[in-house]
Amino acid sequence: MAATAGAFNVPLKCTPEETKHFVEPAMKEAESSNFAGALEVVNDGLNAHPASEGLLFLRSYFCYKIADSISSELSTLPRPIQPLGEGVLMVDGAMTNQMLGRFQEIVKVLGDAEEAINEILQVNPRNNEVTAFRSYIDSKLQKLGRESENMRMTFTNTPNIAGNFCVGCRKNISFDTQTVVFRKTSSTQLEVWHLPCFKQLGNKN
Ligand SMILES: [Zn+2]
Repeated sequence: MAATAGAFNVPLKCTPEETKHFVEPAMKEAESSNFAGALEVVNDGLNAHPASEGLLFLRSYFCYKIADSISSELSTLPRPIQPLGEGVLMVDGAMTNQMLGRFQEIVKVLGDAEEAINEILQVNPRNNEVTAFRSYIDSKLQKLGRESENMRMTFTNTPNIAGNFCVGCRKNISFDTQTVVFRKTSSTQLEVWHLPCFKQLGNKN
């Protein structure tokens, strides 16, 4: 994306001292994709020089990179909520929980990025590159917010409709840890099954 690809074409407003002690070591960490390490160096710098525009920008940029790497890590995982067709939805509870937790981490770290950007804009409201970067992060936050909200809604509402007992074995279901299958049987009826119980049903037919 253009705003970050060009991030380092943006002249960083740093003193030579800030550059030597913080920017250069942070960039070194970033080169080996250690964005958490880079952020740590920048945060140390900001403790010593809280108003440094250049360091604030790097803080927002590294927060963004951390969020981005969690997000691409998530995209390689199997989807925890999968439609199987014919009104059947499979939900892996443990994985959904884990993913919701990771979504929260991303939202938090993007929030930190935004906070750093807002600090820069307070000092220098006409900084166009930073303004563009902020709108990018805003849109990313909104998208993630929608995604995790959808996931949370499906995860929390569906059991309310379907009840807590497996249609197959009649035993209790632990939605937080088990993989379950929801099946629509009419416009108002929703069944819930343990995944293994649902598979057994398929074998019988
Ligand atoms: Zn069952």
